[in-house]
Amino acid sequence: MTISAVGFDLDETLAIPTRDRTAILAEAIDLTDAPPVTREQYLEAHGQNLTADSRVPIFRDLFEETQHSDPEHVAATYRRLIGEALEPLSGVESSLRRLRTEYQIGLLTNGPRRAQRDKLKRLSWTDLFDVTLITGELEAGKPDAEAFEALIERLETQPANTVFVGDDVQADIEGAAAAGLVPIQVLYPEGPPPSNVAKSTIMREELPSSLFNLLSEL
Ligand SMILES: [Mg+2]
Repeated sequence: MTISAVGFDLDETLAIPTRDRTAILAEAIDLTDAPPVTREQYLEAHGQNLTADSRVPIFRDLFEETQHSDPEHVAATYRRLIGEALEPLSGVESSLRRLRTEYQIGLLTNGPRRAQRDKLKRLSWTDLFDVTLITGELEAGKPDAEAFEALIERLETQPANTVFVGDDVQADIEGAAAAGLVPIQVLYPEGPPPSNVAKSTIMREELPSSLFNLLSEL
């Protein structure tokens, strides 16, 4: 198999929150005196708003039946706290730069445009990839094939020659497989178990040192 390009998921794959997201959400709610929201409720609303420009529609949906009228403030606070808590996977930047000398590399991340652009800016990763796609700027989010097709089109590659590396079984692995890409699942303690549609799996902390060899063995 000749691999010419590698696409990556961002959250929990290349960049890791150093604080639990449930705690970050609770702090954002607390700081803004907003009504309580569970992580499950948040994820459900997030899933309904994958192509949104910001998290405002997510919080607007969540607060629809309450008197809380400032989803903008909650969204901005949550964005700041998430951004402050996000750290690059150790060694990943030099690994990606090396990878880029032999492959086209792309980022395809689910989420609102402002939230994800803000993360990339804080990580100083705005120029790290040949192609950076945020589903908030697209017509559809992962696992929709349209999202992967947008990546393929921008990378100017073919699905069968493109690996996609991610941690989320449904969004990244099943989505990439259905779109004809070659999925590699990143595993980490407390993360999802291996998917049987993954072409290969890799432990997250080994990604920077081992991905290059893994690609040559596909
Ligand atoms: Mg992820």
